[in-house]
Amino acid sequence: MQKENLNFLGPRGENSSWARKLWIDIFDQWVIWRKSRFPDNGYDLGRLSSSQKDEDETFALIHNSLTDLQELLKTEVPTFSPSYMGHMKSDISLPALFGHISTILHNPNNSSYEVAKAGNKIEKMAINKLLEMIGYDVESGRGHVTSGGTIANFEAFWRARYRVDHWMSQGLFLKANGHISKESSLFELSHQGWESFEKNQRLYKINEDQMKSYSLVIQGPWNLNQNLSKKGVGEIQSGPVILVPANKHYSWVKAVSVFGLGDHAFWPVNLDPLGRMCVDDLRLKIEAAKVKDRPILMVVSVVGSTELGSVDSVDEIQNLLDTYKNNYGIHIWHHIDAAFGGYFCCIDKNCNTEILSKLTLNSLKAIKRSDSVTIDPHKLGFVPYSCGAILLPNNTNYRVSSFAAPYLNENNDSLLPGWSTTLEGSRSAAGAAATLISASTMALNSAGHGRTLENSIKTKNILRQYLEKEVPNIKIIEPMDTNILTFTLPQMGERLSLVNERCMRLYKEFQNSPDFAVSKTELGLQNYYGLIRRSLALKNIIFDADHLFLLRMVLMNPFSIEKESQKNYLQGIVRFIKAFAENKEAENIINAHKSPINFS
Ligand SMILES: *Cc1c(COP(=O)(O)O)cnc(C)c1O
Repeated sequence: MQKENLNFLGPRGENSSWARKLWIDIFDQWVIWRKSRFPDNGYDLGRLSSSQKDEDETFALIHNSLTDLQELLKTEVPTFSPSYMGHMKSDISLPALFGHISTILHNPNNSSYEVAKAGNKIEKMAINKLLEMIGYDVESGRGHVTSGGTIANFEAFWRARYRVDHWMSQGLFLKANGHISKESSLFELSHQGWESFEKNQRLYKINEDQMKSYSLVIQGPWNLNQNLSKKGVGEIQSGPVILVPANKHYSWVKAVSVFGLGDHAFWPVNLDPLGRMCVDDLRLKIEAAKVKDRPILMVVSVVGSTELGSVDSVDEIQNLLDTYKNNYGIHIWHHIDAAFGGYFCCIDKNCNTEILSKLTLNSLKAIKRSDSVTIDPHKLGFVPYSCGAILLPNNTNYRVSSFAAPYLNENNDSLLPGWSTTLEGSRSAAGAAATLISASTMALNSAGHGRTLENSIKTKNILRQYLEKEVPNIKIIEPMDTNILTFTLPQMGERLSLVNERCMRLYKEFQNSPDFAVSKTELGLQNYYGLIRRSLALKNIIFDADHLFLLRMVLMNPFSIEKESQKNYLQGIVRFIKAFAENKEAENIINAHKSPINFS
């Protein structure tokens, strides 16, 4: 077995004999801890009034219930297996599992230092590992564990809003009190930067309470406009926008909805023909926001998109935003949604371009220049659910909520997040412990975790070679920035609707197959026109549908190309797809649907 694969139980429990010892030791330590903590307290079992009969009955009752549960769990999707290539889910690692279990036995609630002294330390250590991995300074960096990427994105949204709202309120205050022209651009004031903000506070002797009447967050749009009218300042027609690549993850749709910005606050940025956020269009959108005088709450780049695993040009996007900052004093929050792809930062930055392209590497290296990052240990960290994280480069970006004084440090230890600086209330420390123990044992670098992820990309490359060699008419969608492979099966001169129908049938066959699982995705023509055109260029496809249906495989199981494994999973799935592609009977059914196109 490859050394790095010892970190997993193995598809057939190959590592169970020694892993079992760790498992039992965890339980034993739990009991020992109780006994040692209050040696004079309580009673031992001999003094309990229950009889052997009572004990046997209770044991049987729990045992029966657990047996039922086990039966039910046996029907769960076996995503530990390398034959599962569907969603962003694979086996959990042993270090993560044991870190998780050890911690739930103590059940710390990290919302308060008072009930989670160890839990909070564990969380800080885990966050430090993640900060280091993505390149934020560990000394100044901040962050906390969330229940997943969605909430981590919300956390970033909350903080970016805090910042823009402060700068905007001050701008409106200055206008309302005649310190600056009523015609001053709200856009520029809303992106003025903390330095300019602090300078104005001193210059005009403003205290934060005075700004409250001009805060969109505190007043809401109706009161704010009333307050502005009273002062003879023009009402605000529309509020802040967020700029997100058009392939936006639905968590952004939720964020805009929950934070009440309204659908018109969503400004999708076009994708380029490689399926990544188009930097030129981003510039146009920023200019448009400026012309319409609408503050930009944040720009979001994606590292590892849900559909294709693609990686936006974080470096180029940050360069553009830096130009705005350095040349015009316009500070725009740059959030990186690296829920899926963040862990690729572990891979050697000098790796072969077959593993990660220069473009992807440059993006990964530039993550550290951003304002906030979302990362999901429960995806490529092989950590049990639910575990995501929000990371920020400094304390200033971590501020939220309270207008008069940022909610911080209620436990006088600025290293620890408190209940008031997290969207969630009660929070388990188990995810943090799982993240920490896996990072401590598998190491978040090219010799540890990076090797497992490098192998996942090699697996994807090998699968690609097999597919292209064996399956007639297969079209694999490029670029493949990470470890997700998507494909379609188009034939020359066909209509897109028929191409989609063929792939949908293949997807259904997979669903009915006990041997393999894949997932599907749909690329809308509206967002992905360039990429789809480019991918199908040689096939003369007639575009009569509004999307391209793709079969999608996330290659993240560490055992897919384990040398010693009896089964070659990749060849197996290729045979499955080949058999479908060569099945004349199925083809006839599809052909029967082919009717002459009516152009009238
Ligand atoms: C998975 C994912 C999310 C959401 O994360 P959850 O953990 O499912 O809440 C957000 N953005 C991207 C890019 C993702 O891959």
